[in-house]
Amino acid sequence: MSQRTLVLLKPDAVRRGLVGEIIGRIERKAGWTVGALEMRTLQRATLEQHYAEHVGKPFYEPLVEFMSSGPSVALVVEGERVIEGLRAMAGPTDPIAAAPGSIRGDFGTIVRENLIHASDSAESAEREIKIFFPELG
Ligand code: UDP
Repeated sequence: MSQRTLVLLKPDAVRRGLVGEIIGRIERKAGWTVGALEMRTLQRATLEQHYAEHVGKPFYEPLVEFMSSGPSVALVVEGERVIEGLRAMAGPTDPIAAAPGSIRGDFGTIVRENLIHASDSAESAEREIKIFFPELG
């Protein structure tokens, strides 16, 4: 079942020089391909759309501050069961609870600065791809 998903390499991943490492892991997964890629500093309005489900939560404002603090890399990744697969590759939200071998488990310690976003469902993926790559919508 070929799918597509939206991935963000968050500002901590860019600052720490982990972009190549993370994209390398994605590229080495058999049959997965990067279909679109852009580096940019995300604006508050973009983040409000992307994180609409979290607006008003206590962690929302610090999350937006962090996510707009420097450039991120946005990617569309395509391939077999890529939505489920990228969530597994990223690991759970809390990097301390994430298993070694996952991106968050290998490189993160802080819940907010957890390196990577990956869409959590087919509906989220299509919604998020439209936000970051409207030409692919
Ligand atoms: N986040 C946070 N504090 C929390 C929960 C989440 O700062 O208590 C941040 C974290 O960067 C996370 C993002 O908000 O990746 C979105 O949260 P979500 O629950 O959607 O987690 P994800 O799907 O990214 O694992």
